[in-house]
Amino acid sequence: MRSIIIVGGGITGLSAAYIAAKSGRKVRVIEAKEQFGGLLNTFPIGGNRLEFFYHHFFTHDVELLWLLRELKLEDQIIWDNTQMGIYRNKKIYSFNSPTDLLKFKPISFFGKIRFGLTSFFLGKFADWQIKEGISALDWFYKYAGKSVTDSIWKPLLDIKFGPYANEVPLSWMIGRLRQRMNSRKKGAEQLGYLDGSLQILLDALLKELKDLGVELISGAPVLELIIENQTLNGIITEKGIFKNGDFLFTIPTVFLTKLLEKEAPKYAQKLNQIEYFGAVCTILEMKKPLSDFYWLNIADSGFPFGGVIEHTNLINAKNYNHSHIAYLSRYFASTEPIYEMTNEEISELMVEKIKIIFPDFDFHDLIKIHVFRTNTAATVCDKFFSKKIPKCMSPIRNLFLSNMAHVYPDERSANNSIRIAAEACKVMGISAEIIPQNASLSGKIGF
Ligand SMILES: Cc1cc2nc3c(=O)[nH]c(=O)nc-3n(C[C@H](O)[C@H](O)[C@H](O)COP(=O)(O)OP(=O)(O)OC[C@H]3O[C@@H](n4cnc5c(N)ncnc54)[C@H](O)[C@@H]3O)c2cc1C
Repeated sequence: MRSIIIVGGGITGLSAAYIAAKSGRKVRVIEAKEQFGGLLNTFPIGGNRLEFFYHHFFTHDVELLWLLRELKLEDQIIWDNTQMGIYRNKKIYSFNSPTDLLKFKPISFFGKIRFGLTSFFLGKFADWQIKEGISALDWFYKYAGKSVTDSIWKPLLDIKFGPYANEVPLSWMIGRLRQRMNSRKKGAEQLGYLDGSLQILLDALLKELKDLGVELISGAPVLELIIENQTLNGIITEKGIFKNGDFLFTIPTVFLTKLLEKEAPKYAQKLNQIEYFGAVCTILEMKKPLSDFYWLNIADSGFPFGGVIEHTNLINAKNYNHSHIAYLSRYFASTEPIYEMTNEEISELMVEKIKIIFPDFDFHDLIKIHVFRTNTAATVCDKFFSKKIPKCMSPIRNLFLSNMAHVYPDERSANNSIRIAAEACKVMGISAEIIPQNASLSGKIGF
């Protein structure tokens, strides 16, 4: 049986390693950073740990729930009903139920009906494949109306895609709404979190991988590929050369493109069509809560963040020595000024605006501010994105690829990363049928 070398030790790479090792393959995982986990990484706070970037999961995340069961972590999942709000026209509105929708003043009664009907249609009935060439915003302006789009959908897409918001195809929106609607029970949205943070998952997974004999090599960025006769024969890393076997790349496509530029320029050019954008989370550690909302969308302009995610409204502040924790979240493109800013500049820019939304907020209640950022938070899903998604089995022998680009038209998530890891394993001839599959749309293109 061929051995497997996995490049990238985020959840996609680690899940693929688990599946492959379980089926008896010899596996190595090569990770650039000292820590495994990629975007799921955590830091210490209030005597506990917390993700750099807010993370929750959904009741229908069956792949993730499968992995948690495998790792005997099921008992550590906390499920809770969460409150969502929208800040619009200088006011916070609760946005959780049909009654909240009726009370939502920024849109008219007729607009509310259009909002309900269009959301329901997209979440339940629309076919993403025939909507790929349609911009979500164009569709919303036409069918949901101007006030609905300006108050709800445009801010949501601006937050998520920044300057790319107009390009996002309706297909992406269908994937997202489907995911959200499936997680709702009796109107309230149940979200899950792991008691002790995703670090518990990462630690358990890494331990299991070691027990299965997987070689885990961190602090070893891949620097060069050894390609001869259209065949990948090895990788050169800071910690040595690794040869022989199938190579599965789970790193963002932008990094793989650079590695391929010299030896496989045509293929690199194709991969280069996939763009990424960044995210920054400024985390406030506070003596008091900001609100009762877990998730607050900022739908007024003039704010340097698009969402306030108050983590301690999902997980009790007791878990953090009674500190209250809120993420101020912002997605950005490399062309935006925020890309060049230092963490201090970003936190200053964001924190000074908090009092506008929460007038009771007192700066003396701030214990500490933490800032985390990444330039590869998500792929830019633009019109006909499915045509850009590369095949898992690349034109270069022994080189396989499975990364966030394959999580389409769903929203990227830890759950969907496990799905694409399973699909990649199948392409490499490894059995992955035992992994349950939810109704998500990811993992269907490119495999
Ligand atoms: C702000 C934000 C909020 C999110 N919220 C949620 C949420 O609520 N729920 C949810 O389920 N998901 C959420 N996600 C998404 C989730 O974190 C990702 O979908 C998932 O972690 C992607 O995993 P990955 O392994 O594909 O990629 P990554 O985590 O990016 O891993 C790629 C790995 O490759 C490594 N690498 C890069 N270059 C090289 C190289 N040359 N050599 C070796 N290694 C290399 C990197 O260091 C990294 O560890 C969120 C993401 C962000 C940014």
